[in-house]
Amino acid sequence: MAEYDVTIVGAGPGGLACAIKAQELGLSCVLLEKGKRVLQGIIDTYPKGKKVYPTIPKSQTDPFAIEDLAPGPDNEPVEDYVAKVEACAEKRKLSIRLGEDFQDIEKDGTGFTVVTRQNRYTASNVILAFGSNIPVDLGVYGEAKTVARGLDNPEDHIGAPTLVLGGGNAAADVVAALSKAKREAGDNTTIWWGHRREQFRVDKDVARDLGEEILLGGSIRILPGAVPRIGEVDADGVDRLIIQTRQVDVGQGVELNQGMSFPMKHVIACVGTQGPAPVFGKLGLQQIMCVAGVCKISKEGTQLVMLTPDFETGTKGIFAIGGAVSPTYILIEQEGVLKETKHTNIIYMAIKDGVRAVQAIADRRAST
Ligand SMILES: Cc1cc2nc3c(=O)[nH]c(=O)nc-3n(C[C@H](O)[C@H](O)[C@H](O)COP(=O)(O)OP(=O)(O)OC[C@H]3O[C@@H](n4cnc5c(N)ncnc54)[C@H](O)[C@@H]3O)c2cc1C
Repeated sequence: MAEYDVTIVGAGPGGLACAIKAQELGLSCVLLEKGKRVLQGIIDTYPKGKKVYPTIPKSQTDPFAIEDLAPGPDNEPVEDYVAKVEACAEKRKLSIRLGEDFQDIEKDGTGFTVVTRQNRYTASNVILAFGSNIPVDLGVYGEAKTVARGLDNPEDHIGAPTLVLGGGNAAADVVAALSKAKREAGDNTTIWWGHRREQFRVDKDVARDLGEEILLGGSIRILPGAVPRIGEVDADGVDRLIIQTRQVDVGQGVELNQGMSFPMKHVIACVGTQGPAPVFGKLGLQQIMCVAGVCKISKEGTQLVMLTPDFETGTKGIFAIGGAVSPTYILIEQEGVLKETKHTNIIYMAIKDGVRAVQAIADRRAST
C-alpha cells in the first residue's frame, strides 16, 4: 500500500494549492520542495521588493481558487507575499518536506515511488509542480559561458553598466527593480534594455512601474533589435556577450554591423526559461514534437507534454501543472482529439490547475 494518496513535487503556488486542496478533501499527501523555504522558486527569481500582481487572465471569470494563496489587491512586495504564504502553510500544518530534490519516479504495481536525492516516497498519484525555471543557454556562438540568469541580487550590479535582455514583463520587472536599486545607491551607470524584436510587450501594471522609474531619474536606455551574437573570453579571461545592435546592408553582400560587448556577469537574460521537456522525457511521459502546420503557437521542434483537462499526463496517476506546463501543452480533449493549448504562467493559473488535478484524484478515489 502506498504511503500517500498523492505526492506533490514543488512548493510553489501550484504545489501549495494541491496540498491545501488535498487536505480539504481528506487525501493523504506530502509536498516535496528542493529549496529551503516554500515558494523557493519565487524567492529565487523575483527581484527584491518586486510587486506581486494578482493577475487574472481576461478569459477567466472565477476568483482565485484558493484565496489564501492569492497576492493581495494592493500589489504587495514579494517578501510580504512569501511571508503570508509561509504563515498560511504553517497554520494549516501542511505536510511539507524541504530540501528534497526530486530525481525520478519509479512505477510499481499499485502506484509510484518518488525518488529524491535524499529519500523515497510511495504514492498512488504524483503531481509535478516544479515550475518552469530551468536556465537556458543563450545559444550564441563562441567560447564564453552564456547561460541566461535572473536578477539574484541588484547590489551585484551597482557601479557597472548592466544589460537586461528580453522583451516581456519579467525583463521589465528586472529593469525597474535594478533601476530603483541603482538610483537609491546614487549610481548613475546605465541599464541597457535589449530585445531582439523591435517591439517590447509588457502589461499595464508593469509599464506603470517602469515609467515611474524613468520619471524618478533612472538611467535606462532601450535597445530594440538587439541580438545576442557571440560569447567570447577576452584577453583578461572575462566571459563577455557581444550583442548586435544594428545591421546595415552596404551592398554586394557586405553588411555593416554595430554591436556592444558586456561582461557576462552584468548580463541578465529574461529570455524565457527552458521548459521541463527533458525531465518529462526522462520520466517517459508522452510528449508531442511540434511540426510546421500542426502547432500554431509553439516553435517547430518544441516538445509539448500531453495532458487531459484534469492535467493528467499520458501516464495515469501522474499529473503536471502550473509553470511546468507553460506556455503551451497538448490538451487531450477526448480520445484522439488533441489541441495545442496556451497556458499562461501566472500564479492564478498554477493554483487553478492544482485544485483541478487534486479534485480529479479525489473523484477517482471516491468512485473506486
Ligand atoms: C520575475 C517574475 C515575475 C513574476 N511576476 C508575477 C506576478 O506579479 N503575478 C503573477 O501572477 N505571476 C508572476 N510571475 C509568474 C509566477 O511566479 C509563476 O506563474 C508561478 O510561480 C508558477 O507557480 P508554480 O507553482 O507552477 O511554479 P514555481 O513557483 O516555479 O514553483 C516551483 C517550485 O518547485 C521547486 N522545484 C523545482 N525543481 C524541483 C525539484 N527537482 N525537486 C523539488 N522541488 C523542485 C522550486 O524550488 C519551486 O519552489 C512572475 C514570474 C517571474 C519569473
